[in-house]
Amino acid sequence: MLKLLDVKKEYNTPSGCFSALDSVSLCIEEGEFVAIVGKSGSGKSTLLNMIGTLDSVTSGSILLDGQDFSTMNGRQLAEIRNQSIGFVFQRFNLEPEYTVYQNIELPLVINGSTQNEQRVQAVLGQLDLTSKAKLKTKLLSGGEQQRVAIARAIINDPKLILADEPCGNLDTTNSNIVMSILQTLNQQGKTVILVTHDQEDARKAQRIVTLSNGRIISDEKISAADI
Ligand code: ADP
Ligand code: MG
Repeated sequence: MLKLLDVKKEYNTPSGCFSALDSVSLCIEEGEFVAIVGKSGSGKSTLLNMIGTLDSVTSGSILLDGQDFSTMNGRQLAEIRNQSIGFVFQRFNLEPEYTVYQNIELPLVINGSTQNEQRVQAVLGQLDLTSKAKLKTKLLSGGEQQRVAIARAIINDPKLILADEPCGNLDTTNSNIVMSILQTLNQQGKTVILVTHDQEDARKAQRIVTLSNGRIISDEKISAADI
């Protein structure tokens, strides 16, 4: 489903060219739950942002269902982001003055859809947010905000969910809730890529890819016996 071939990412910095990712090749099958781990600065967010078409590679290629991102224009990439990929961030990235309902509906509004009520209500129910629908998201707790962000990420029924440290700003209880939501989405058939530095969360995936200084240093499948 997702293929990365010899991906490199370099940044120009005042002190010269910095290589954030080097020779990263990775194949992820539909329905997998993959954790990406590694120290701070190892390139995890850079990698996820490129998979999510938020950033472009310096060289190499990324293909989603055989479509090479580098051959696509901005409009085509925006469509992939809207339809095929759901992104969840550590800092939630919600519109604070919009209500829960409006935040969740936003991706539908962006693609011009108007009959949204049923779909939004279904996702509100799925994420246990029905009673919060009319509240501005700035009034919610961190755990609730992250559930809104997940609802927004899945409103278009994307096949791929990317989560960059989604539990990084949450307490243990809410982290466990978010992790079990991701596991449920995976069981429902979604491919999930989770960036985390929590070993316990990583072990809830089926596969752990470890980055160090922009390179993959290990890629291991977790067997059922390890869980
Ligand atoms: P991680 O998510 O694993 O903590 P990042 O992918 O955010 O790491 O960053 C990897 C490296 O790339 C870091 O050393 C970071 O400072 C550097 N980096 C990220 N974005 C930029 C940028 N826009 N310009 C220069 N360096 C960057
Ligand atoms: Mg990061």
